[in-house]
Formats: sequence, structure tokens, C-alpha cells
Amino acid sequence: MDCLFCSIIEGTIPSDVVYENDHVLAFRDVDPQSPLHILFVPKVHVRRFSELSDPTVQTALFQAIAEYAQAEGLEEDGYRIVINTGQLAQQSVDHLHLHLLSGRQLQWPPG
Ligand code: AMP
Repeated sequence: MDCLFCSIIEGTIPSDVVYENDHVLAFRDVDPQSPLHILFVPKVHVRRFSELSDPTVQTALFQAIAEYAQAEGLEEDGYRIVINTGQLAQQSVDHLHLHLLSGRQLQWPPG
């Protein structure tokens, strides 16, 4: 299977890893949309949000973001977590990923 994020998880494509646990890898987005832009991905290949059925991995993803945000001192200023799912949301990589965005004033509603 040809999947960009699986290749990053396997280490065959380089990435700037900032966090890892048994179920999750987190690395810097190659095209950052804010001063801090991290992608949290399940190590198991899951195409879309609705296809993530394993509660262990669901929990691990949220724990990973919470741990990272705490460790990086993001709680006071805040941050945004985004999941783009499917064509209308412009999901461009078919491996579930959660964007963590911080470091600037974010606007609402998103474009
Ligand atoms: P999405 O549009 O929600 O599917 O997000 C995919 C994200 O993956 C985009 O923000 C891209 O900039 C990012 N991306 C694509 N290729 C790489 C890569 N090799 N390393 C890190 N991030 C990447």
C-alpha cells in the first residue's frame, strides 16, 4: 500500500518527529499554517476519522495531544485541533491525522 504517512511512520520518508508513543507518531507539518503546526497520526493505517474504531488508539491520539500541549506550555495561550475528513474538508492525505495549530491568533470561522 502506498501511503505517505505510513512511510513516515516506517521511517522510509524523513520527518521532524516531536512526539511518539506506542500508537501515535507526531511530526511537524512540512507546510506549516501557523508557527506551530504538528500532525498527530495513528501508527495503524486508518483512512478517515469515521474508520478509527479502536478505542485504544482513539484515546492514545487525544492523550498524545494533551501530553504534548502540556509539555510545550501551550495551555495558557491555547491551540486548535483540526481533522479534515473527505473532499469537502480538503483532506489531502488518506491517513487519519490531527492537526495541532498554535503560535498565532487563529481566526473563526475557518476558510
Ligand atoms: P490534510 O490537508 O488535512 O489532509 O493535511 C495533510 C497535511 O500533510 C498538510 O498540512 C501537508 O502540508 C502535510 N504534509 C504533506 N506531506 C508531508 C510530509 N512529507 N511531512 C509532513 N507533513 C506533510
